[in-house]
Formats: sequence, structure tokens, C-alpha cells
Amino acid sequence: MKYAPVQNYINGRFVPAAGNKKMDVISPLDGNLLSTVPMSPASDLDTAVTAAKAAFPAWSKTPIKERVQVFFRYKYLLEKHLRELGELVSEENGKTIGEAIAEVEKCIELTEFATSLPQLVTGEVLEVSKGVECRTEHVPLGVVASIVPFNFPSMVPNWTIPNAIALGNCMVIKPSEKVPLSVGRLAELLKEAGLPDGVFNIVHGDSEIVNAICDHPGIEAVSFVGSTKVAKIVYQRATHNYKRCLALGGAKNHLLVLPDAKADMTAQNVAASMSGCAGQRCMAASAMVGVGSIDHIIDKICAEVLKIVPGENLGAVINKESQQRIERYITEAERGGAKILVDGRNTVVAGKEKGTYVGPTVIDHVTPDMAIAKEEVFGPVISIIRTNTVDEAIAIENASPYGNAASVFTQNGGMARYIIDRASAGMIGVNVGVPVPREPFSFGGWNESKFGVGDITGKSSIEFWTKLKKSTTKWNPEAGVNWMS
Ligand code: NAD
Repeated sequence: MKYAPVQNYINGRFVPAAGNKKMDVISPLDGNLLSTVPMSPASDLDTAVTAAKAAFPAWSKTPIKERVQVFFRYKYLLEKHLRELGELVSEENGKTIGEAIAEVEKCIELTEFATSLPQLVTGEVLEVSKGVECRTEHVPLGVVASIVPFNFPSMVPNWTIPNAIALGNCMVIKPSEKVPLSVGRLAELLKEAGLPDGVFNIVHGDSEIVNAICDHPGIEAVSFVGSTKVAKIVYQRATHNYKRCLALGGAKNHLLVLPDAKADMTAQNVAASMSGCAGQRCMAASAMVGVGSIDHIIDKICAEVLKIVPGENLGAVINKESQQRIERYITEAERGGAKILVDGRNTVVAGKEKGTYVGPTVIDHVTPDMAIAKEEVFGPVISIIRTNTVDEAIAIENASPYGNAASVFTQNGGMARYIIDRASAGMIGVNVGVPVPREPFSFGGWNESKFGVGDITGKSSIEFWTKLKKSTTKWNPEAGVNWMS
């Protein structure tokens, strides 16, 4: 086992979980055992919430301009340890080292945004009548929770950690049991950056801890990122307990390709979007809807995809179960009459035979009723659906219950606008394969890709992590007003 067993992090110290339940942490790159992760009982969550509650009065009363100094130092430490953090992300998640370093760079950008919060959270004040002022302030909530998925072991935690904590909250995070290592390293860096003990805590585990978070009376707000199935469970359970909740779910992202699209650029974008992070991005292209005659673009997509080599510029999928699920989708589509143009099944990387790889896969003539066209595949697979009109293509996109991202490839600005106005998705790209809004713009989908109000990052997150205090004051003693009136 490469690393010591993973422990919880409570009140500034790594501590063993109560009980003996644990799971192996396996590297998808080569199948090697990295560590074990405890399946903590709910009593460990109680201990973490108690520590966070104790830290809250002092932390929330620390002026925000002082609080963000921690994040200036944290940002520097992320930069200093960029390579090391990237290696850990790659090892536990299976993405390539280049993708993992890009993920940590995104953590740096998220932290940079948090350092600008003092500029963004100024309240408002107005003399509403003679001598009477109304004023608003953003006030932290208290102890908040963040539940995160496997596909970005450091970036998704950093969607919530810097903003929630800089805004004065104390946090308990529940990492994915599949990738528990990176968050522990982030805890060390936060401490080195000067974050007081108890402000940030980690409790590892599975659904038992997630349910306990939703039920815990000491937790004010729950942020969740993961599959739609679990997002629904968490959203219902947390709001049933009168908590504020924002739950981001799964996705099925469509790329609409029009015949006038620039073929080379479109092919490069489609190939990169469907295969980046082995297709395990909630923003990955999964279905391409081709309008009219696009054979020349499909030929170029196949040529691009054939340059992608598993184990070199394509990482592994998270585990054997995922590998088998993705291959099942491909096989079912083939049986249903779709044509496999590039086949990534049965991929083995020499020297990493126990790694869980799926090669890049291009499937043509997929029909909208096939499972591969409707469901989240979460692997390096693009399904091509053919249509005759733009309206048919939009209808296919909008029939999806999800609504994370959609992109259009065209040189026609009017047509792009027509599609932006009609596509039912929270994040739209024009000639962009992965339309992730960068800071300070906020990230969040629509429909069954997100439950709750607002977005998880950027300015929108300020509303989620704070509540507004409104005060009305009267200061005109010269008018002889009674002090107590
Ligand atoms: P997941 O839903 O299986 O797990 C997410 C978290 O929920 C984990 O911490 C896990 O321990 C916990 N969990 C799992 N099953 C649970 C249950 N039955 N009850 C309570 N908690 C449970 O998701 P995943 O497989 O780790 O991540 C991949 C999914 O996340 C994909 O669907 C992807 O689209 C989605 N995702 C969405 C976004 C977004 O911004 N919308 C971002 C990243 C990932």
C-alpha cells in the first residue's frame, strides 16, 4: 500500500474514524492499492460539527479582509505544490498528469476569485427618509457541508472551500470514497496557510455520512455535486430538514454541428470534449447532433480521435464497474443498429494491465431512442445522431431531462443565437466544446442537472453561502427624536 490509511480531519488534526469499516483506494491507472478509506459512522460527523461550531464565533467575527489573507497564502501553496497535487489527483482518479495539473490550476483560479470577495460583498446603504438609513450586510450561515464526487478530486472541493470559508462559514466536507487522498492534502495546505483549527473538517464515508449531513441539526446548508440520482436524494432530504441546499447532478451534453462549421476546428473540439478526463466530466460532449451533410466533419473527427492513445494522452476510467458499464452501452448501441466508427472496447495498456481503460469511441447513426443517446455514459464515447433541420436538433437536445451544457458549431452568428435562445441548458458554447464559464462567471446547469436556486461558483455563490441582514436605523437627535422611539 503506497500511502498510510486515510483518516478524518477534525479540529486541525488527522484522527482515526470510529469503527473498523473501510474500503480500498485503488489507482485506476494501474490497479495498484494506494490506501484505505474509512467508512465513518455518524458519530464522527457529530465530532466534526462540534469542532466547526466551536470555531465559528471567532472565524465569522474575523473581518473578511483578514479571512481572505488565508486564501492568498493557500493560493501560493497550491502554486508551490502544483506538480505534487497533480500527481496525487492523477494517481487516485486516473486522469493524465496534464489533465490533473490543469485541474489544480483551476483550483488556483477558484481561490483567486475567493480573494476578491471583499470587493464583491459590500452591502448597500441608503437614507430612505430624513435621518433614517436602511443597510444590508452578507452574514455567514454557520456550519455548512460539502459533498463531492470522484471526477475532480481537488477542483470540485475547491468550488466550495474558498468561497464558503472566506465568507465566514465553517465547513465539513465528505469526499468521494473513490478519491479521498487529495482533500487531505488540501487540509494540510489550508492549515499551513493559517486557517484556524475547526474551520475546515473532513469526514470520510459513504451514504451513511451523506444522510447524517442532511439530517444534522447543526448544519445550516448542504452543497452537493454528483449524479442526478443522489442529487435528488440529498436535495429532498436536506430541504425536508429545512436546510438550504444546492445539489448539482449529472449531465448529457449535446454538440449541435451544422454543415457550415469549420471542419478542422470542430473535429478537434469534439474529440477533446468527449475524451478529456476519459469522458468523466459533467461538461463532456456525449451526443453530437449533426444537421444535414456533415460526413466530411465526421471523417475529420475520426482522424482526430485516432490520435488519442490510452495510457498516453487518455487516462483511465474510475474503476472496473465503470469500464464495463461504458462497454455495455457501446455494445447495446451496436446491436441496435448503430455503426461503430472507432471502437474503444477491450483496451489494455501494456505494463498497466490492471488499469481500467476504455479507448476513445465514435458511434454513428445512433437514434434518439437508444439508451446511449439518452443516458449519461461518463466515458470517452461520442454518439452521433443525424437530423435534417436545426429545429429537430434542438428538439433532441431539449428532450433530455438534463440541462448542464450544450454547444453549437457553426459560422452563422444568427443561427448560433437562434440555438442559444432555444437550448434548454444552463451553459451554452458557440464553437467551444467544453463551455465552462471561467471566474468570475458562475457554474451551474438547469433541469435535472441542478436542484436549488443559484449557482455553485462565482458571484452567485455569495447568495448561497450567506444570508442578508437588513437594518434600519434612525440618527437625528437634533430633531429631538426620543432615543428609544
Ligand atoms: P455519485 O452521485 O455516485 O457520488 C457523489 C457523492 O455522493 C459521493 O460523495 C458519494 O459518496 C455520495 N453517494 C453515492 N451514493 C449515495 C447514496 N445512495 N446516498 C447518499 N450519498 C451517496 O457521483 P460520482 O459517481 O462520484 O460522480 C459522477 C457524477 O457526478 C456524474 O453523474 C457527473 O455528471 C456528476 N457531476 C456533476 C457535476 C455538475 O457540476 N453538475 C460536476 C461533477 C460531477
